[in-house]
Amino acid sequence: MTACHTVHVLIDLHSHSTASDGTDAPDEVVARAAAAGLDVIALTDHDTVAGWADAAAAVERQPGVALVRGMEMSCVGDGEDGDPVSVHLLAYLFDPEEPDLAAERDRVGSDRPRRLRRMAEMMRDDGLPVDPADLPTDNDVIGRPHLAALLVRAGVVDSIDEAFRRYLRSDGRYHVRKAETPLDEAVALVRAAGGVSVLAHARASRRGRLPATEQIERLARAGALDGLEVDHPDHDAADAAVLRDLARRHDLVITGSSDYHGANKITPLAAHTTEPDQYRRLVERASGTAVIGGSR
Ligand code: AMP
Ligand code: FE
Ligand code: FE
Ligand code: ZN
Repeated sequence: MTACHTVHVLIDLHSHSTASDGTDAPDEVVARAAAAGLDVIALTDHDTVAGWADAAAAVERQPGVALVRGMEMSCVGDGEDGDPVSVHLLAYLFDPEEPDLAAERDRVGSDRPRRLRRMAEMMRDDGLPVDPADLPTDNDVIGRPHLAALLVRAGVVDSIDEAFRRYLRSDGRYHVRKAETPLDEAVALVRAAGGVSVLAHARASRRGRLPATEQIERLARAGALDGLEVDHPDHDAADAAVLRDLARRHDLVITGSSDYHGANKITPLAAHTTEPDQYRRLVERASGTAVIGGSR
């Protein structure tokens, strides 16, 4: 037997806190990341940077884990079938105060309560025991998981997952669209704010329709998109293989992430991870804000 000193660097580039639709506070996400043995955690709440400050403060208390500050942007892209489709763009290490990106983030994030209330009203008007006034008001940004939690509490369904399957699907009768940023515009905004962008879970077919490969390839060829999230809980092996091949052909950064949401999803932190060389490529391209804590 020869001793093998492989150093396992664990990097998880996608997580959510109570600033959006996760169930752990931002500092708890950081503490759990440290406890899970992660070397790098990215906090990527939907359409908000409200969790950044608390997560940054927590990193000071957790030697060993580095924090990448990010956000998951709600976007609209070209669908495989030609119709527009909702897509998520992971934006990392951008300047949170750059005015154009900040304005767009506020526009999209502030539309979410209106949209969730409307969905809850449609359910109530249909006779479901849901009171729109029970939606949380203390989050910076709310999402469908909050409405799912109301359906569980009301006994309409037994789990968050069942709530999505039966009542919250994007092709379901109660779905209301939210404000979204056109994908081309989003990647440009992130770049202009010194950040890097990675298209999230682009083959997650159980969530609904899929984005067109043509648009992804066009953005890659234009050098506008930095990477693709390849390993993700909503991708099976074939989905990941398609994306890995696409990323390699266009020299895009390949990431893997858990998309941790605390108790709102079953996936634990570090369920999927990113290779250190791929992570370094992202960090080297970013100039908007620094990675903090840990050994980076
Ligand atoms: P929204 O951003 O309000 O449209 O809600 C979408 C969010 O719902 C995604 O970010 C996921 O976190 C979550 N989601 C989607 N499908 C499921 C599911 N089956 N179980 C739990 N959470 C889900
Ligand atoms: Fe979410
Ligand atoms: Fe997402
Ligand atoms: Zn996410």
